[in-house]
Amino acid sequence: MIKAYAVHEPKGELKPFEYDPGLLGDNEVEIDVKHCGICHSDLSMIDNEWGMTQYPLVPGHEVVGTISSTGGNVSHLKIGDFVGLGWHSGYCMTCSACLSGDHNLCSSAQSTIVAHHGGFADKVRANAVSVVKLPDSIDRESAGPLFCGGITVFNPLVQFDIKPTDKVGVIGIGGLGHMALQFLNVWGCEVTAFTSSEKKKTEALELGAHHTLDSRESSEIEAASGQFDFIISTVNVKLDWNT
Ligand SMILES: [Zn+2]
Ligand SMILES: [Zn+2]
Repeated sequence: MIKAYAVHEPKGELKPFEYDPGLLGDNEVEIDVKHCGICHSDLSMIDNEWGMTQYPLVPGHEVVGTISSTGGNVSHLKIGDFVGLGWHSGYCMTCSACLSGDHNLCSSAQSTIVAHHGGFADKVRANAVSVVKLPDSIDRESAGPLFCGGITVFNPLVQFDIKPTDKVGVIGIGGLGHMALQFLNVWGCEVTAFTSSEKKKTEALELGAHHTLDSRESSEIEAASGQFDFIISTVNVKLDWNT
């Protein structure tokens, strides 16, 4: 039995929950969960904001742990390997997206927390191809968020070919933005954080921003006109785009 925490109704509380995962599939692995991040999407799923939550729901899709069991066809992961698991826990492996290496676009990808029990548990299962082996050098305790918020802000830097000489603005210094600042800083970019509070200004500078800009001050925004090669917005509220 897998011991987990589950929510049984929209906006419900997480309560201890056990389930029998059945036989391990040939292409699956089981992970002993060591750490798991909390993402805003876990909260959206708990509250059924997207209308696709199936209860009982075991949230958790920023998993870090060790492989405790492998299916018969799994050869690239072995028991004891330190791994991470994110939003997806399986792919069809035959569609054109999967065959082009764009597994994240697979229309029949299995989500880790939709019709599947996630990482707020002692163990979680996933298709082995969706599990990423972690390098030894990584801080395992804080690695979990790389598998959701982290990949979300890293991906555009690759997709849009951001260069170390680029000047980049980051709007919203929260779960996603704080990682964007760190990535961009070590990438070599000149980084500006758009923030709305004094407390976040100091934090943004500590995380790797070279400059901060008060996003509520239209004069500061105007002064920055034409300064950026790229702006990444991590906020999910409407902004004054005309400004
Ligand atoms: Zn596919
Ligand atoms: Zn997430």
